[in-house]
Amino acid sequence: MFGDMFRVSLTSFRRAKRIDPMTPIRRRSFLKSLGAAAAASTLPSRLRALAQAPLASTYTAPPILLNQLGYLPNHAKIATVLPANLPHSPTTFRVLSEHHSVLEAKLSTPILDAASGDTTASADFSSLTTPGTYRLEVAGTLSDPFAIRPTVYADALRLTMRGYYGQRCGCAVDLGNGYHHPACHLDGAFDPTSGRSGTVPNAGGWHDAGDYGRYIVNSGITTATLLWAWELYPDALHSLTLDLPESGAASKKLNAPLPDFLAEIKWNLNWMLSMQDPADGGVFHKQTSLHFCAFILPQDDHLPSQIIGTGAAPYKSTCATADLAAVMAIAARCYQPFDAAFAARCLAASRSAWTWARQHPNVPFTNPPTVSTGGYDDPDCSDELLWASAELFRTTHEPHYEAALLDSIKPLLPDLKITVPSWNNVASLGLWTYAFATASHLTPTTHAIQQATQTAAAELIARTHTSGYGNSLSLADYHWGSNSNAGNQSLLLLVANHFQPSTAAVDAALSNLHYLIGRNCFGVSWVTQLGHRPFQHPHHRPSAADNIAAPWPGLLSGGPNAHGGDAVADALPKAPPMRMWLDDQRAYSMNEIAINWNAPLVFLLAAANSTRPSLHTLSDPTENLSSRSERSAVEKPAARPPTCGIKICHLDQNITPLSL
Ligand SMILES: [Zn+2]
Repeated sequence: MFGDMFRVSLTSFRRAKRIDPMTPIRRRSFLKSLGAAAAASTLPSRLRALAQAPLASTYTAPPILLNQLGYLPNHAKIATVLPANLPHSPTTFRVLSEHHSVLEAKLSTPILDAASGDTTASADFSSLTTPGTYRLEVAGTLSDPFAIRPTVYADALRLTMRGYYGQRCGCAVDLGNGYHHPACHLDGAFDPTSGRSGTVPNAGGWHDAGDYGRYIVNSGITTATLLWAWELYPDALHSLTLDLPESGAASKKLNAPLPDFLAEIKWNLNWMLSMQDPADGGVFHKQTSLHFCAFILPQDDHLPSQIIGTGAAPYKSTCATADLAAVMAIAARCYQPFDAAFAARCLAASRSAWTWARQHPNVPFTNPPTVSTGGYDDPDCSDELLWASAELFRTTHEPHYEAALLDSIKPLLPDLKITVPSWNNVASLGLWTYAFATASHLTPTTHAIQQATQTAAAELIARTHTSGYGNSLSLADYHWGSNSNAGNQSLLLLVANHFQPSTAAVDAALSNLHYLIGRNCFGVSWVTQLGHRPFQHPHHRPSAADNIAAPWPGLLSGGPNAHGGDAVADALPKAPPMRMWLDDQRAYSMNEIAINWNAPLVFLLAAANSTRPSLHTLSDPTENLSSRSERSAVEKPAARPPTCGIKICHLDQNITPLSL
């Protein structure tokens, strides 16, 4: 049986790669399906009943589709209406409050939405800005209730960020309501492919996705995205409470109490640091078992947690090392006001990783023959190197990092294009960081980056206006992890807004949020335990094995995938791309969760919770940390208290940079 599944899944995996070699599919192993299939036969007896529980749900979309949470008062509010599913070919709609009409307007002319195959009309009630709870009414049919208020996404931000606590490896986790597990995967060991042997005490980090592996490359973009949210939207994140084991814990070693948001991220940073070879600065690619375990709880997975290398000298890989260099450079900026010693450690790790990656620019990683967990293999690490140089330059302003960065950018000029970030394409993060770092003294390169970003944003904005469901995805964007693509497109739009203020860009970014939380052709919220109809069956081992009906909270589904990639997805009848999704635990190419998918959603929700979501500045948002005095403090922890400290957490574009 396993042999047949192996072949079917392998075929699907290869097909997904053939469709578009640049498609940022998550190159998860086909053996994931074996883990799911093995679950029924290997589950402990107490979970046998669960093995017979339904693995899938289907949804019939209601005729009025909107963000199931609601909307910010001063931003666009557009619902999708399916006229064919309503009587009398309606042409108008009303917004009701307590059964009283507060707004009546015309529906747009129906269009055929290519992504879904649906005939859709739009109900635009953006003019309604009064906080309250409402429903739309069309032809006597009511929508879900929804809110209009400035804090409408506050709980969503907490839920999705707290999802990372739920993914923690190596410590006891308790999210409440029965979602808990004791410490897992405490014993690390070097796999022979690392060139080392023996055990290593390096528990920590976040479980990557539905499996229990930990991968530097995917941790890299995840952690960076979250830290960027911290830098750009500090007012939304500084006081966010996550009820973590570290919450409220004071330490005399710290300059200032560590906010929960940074405490959670530090859990993963510490594991990433443990993957760096102290002898030379290189970074091992991943730490996983040799193959995926069955659908069991993390503490029941006793497969050895192995540090896996490339199998030959130098054993570490370029992409992982450069990613770590980039992330640790960001971390040095973010943690400096709170924990100068940790910030200094991060910067030192970043510098040594950058040096190693420059000396070894072409060491790819592919799974050794003995290993079948996720590969995250990327043959081109030039974008990771570009990004590392950019983040180090932004943190230190040292000219040799800028020189290396400009060398990396040169081949991209003069036809510079901004692409949507993904785990294997981080060039835009590097370009944007350079643009932020040089915003106060524009260079031709800065200008080119800003212009290219505006061009990319304009295309995305236009798509949200023509999509029947208001998202910015092209038909080609419905691939493995398309929901994260929507999130990362929003990230692009929000960065564009920082370069050049644009209500249209912010509204387009928020429109993707509406898509993810209900304004889609299934009428489903693709975030577990969020909204009126959240999806129920993620490909996520703790959710499958915990004997609780509802999945673990705050996790984003990968979403529609028109290219298949697992047995369930491959059996789905062909349909327009948005419809290529099932709420099925087994469909890992459509319904897995992953840390790098939640990250742009957290970023988007941080923007939406900022008191100034259209915040913009032409100076580096972290300029006050980039001053020479602070850079010096990062490198040599000073006895004096930080001079910017909390001030950067309440960023104001009018703040005068520290005097030098
Ligand atoms: Zn674990």
